[in-house]
Amino acid sequence: MPATKDYYDILGVKKSASADEIKKAFRKLARKHHPDAGGSEEKFKEINEAYEVLSDPEKRKQYDQYGAYFGGAGAPGGPGGAPGGWPPGAGGGFSYEHVDLGDIFGDVFGGGGFGGTRTGTSAGRGARRGRDLTYEITLGFDEALAGVSTKVDVERAETCSVCKGSGAKPGTSATTCPTCSGTGHVSQGQGGMFAFSRPCPRCGGSGSVIENPCAACKGVGRATRIKPVTVNVPPGVTDGGKLRFKGKGEPGEGGAPAGDLYVVTHIKPHPYFTRDGADVVMELPITITEAALGTEVTIPVPEGGKVKLKIAPGTQDGAVHRLKGKGAPKLKGAGRGDLKVRMKVVVPSDLTAEQKELLNRFASSHTGDVRAHIR
Ligand SMILES: [Zn+2]
Ligand SMILES: [Zn+2]
Repeated sequence: MPATKDYYDILGVKKSASADEIKKAFRKLARKHHPDAGGSEEKFKEINEAYEVLSDPEKRKQYDQYGAYFGGAGAPGGPGGAPGGWPPGAGGGFSYEHVDLGDIFGDVFGGGGFGGTRTGTSAGRGARRGRDLTYEITLGFDEALAGVSTKVDVERAETCSVCKGSGAKPGTSATTCPTCSGTGHVSQGQGGMFAFSRPCPRCGGSGSVIENPCAACKGVGRATRIKPVTVNVPPGVTDGGKLRFKGKGEPGEGGAPAGDLYVVTHIKPHPYFTRDGADVVMELPITITEAALGTEVTIPVPEGGKVKLKIAPGTQDGAVHRLKGKGAPKLKGAGRGDLKVRMKVVVPSDLTAEQKELLNRFASSHTGDVRAHIR
């Protein structure tokens, strides 16, 4: 007697379920019961069988019409053996043609499908872009302003120089993988009924195996090397900024391009200059008499050299003088930022008796009321 199966029950959906609900239920169950994910093959078959029918509007209609009963050699009263091997589960077999395996099993085997990040599976051995690498460097304040050519010791996997990347001991070569006959993938399942392709477990998809591995790279074909890479740091980099050097990262495999090298720049503190993007900030201490009476001081500027700066009479604490174009070079575009000089009025705390007397005389003559607005 043929099996009586309730396909709706198997997929856990209502008879009225939409095509989308059926698809969702199938995907969820297929992932759960996939033999490679530790599921039972019987259950997996059953789920697929149910989906095979319910996902096809024509077959679903027939199934609904005839209930859960299926004959052994052709649908009972059916139109003389419907196309597509109807009914399923009766030795006719069914295929995965309408099932997007990569979509469903991508979640089971980890992102990116079977091949990981490799591309070009037809020949087995794929090309792979080199990894991006990130390094950090610390520059002196002046180096960051002027730009510098510096070496970064980059650790990256390079083609093994002993075996030239083949992974085989010099004088030997890789042989065709006996497990997959060089195709790089194997079929899984029984008699083709559930056949789908997986990367070959023996050769990892490369299609070849190495009997005598290269001693230097242990058959990997690549070796980690520390290589000094010269990077030209442009003038004006900022603290925490990131530079990208295209193609200076890890070399690619199989003719694929190299990755990029990212360099994060840190800047050592300066005794009196600080950076604010392309602007440079400095605090300029002045005495109370300089602030009150005005003066002219000579100050250093970041690009080197000195400039004279006029302090007007009555300059307040915190006042900022902006010296146009005396800051750091702009990383993007031409020109330089500004030098912002912030006044810091220093109040004396070590007055002699004579100085106190002088200030007392000043205080008695000074009628300015600085708190008129507070009363
Ligand atoms: Zn090697
Ligand atoms: Zn193989």
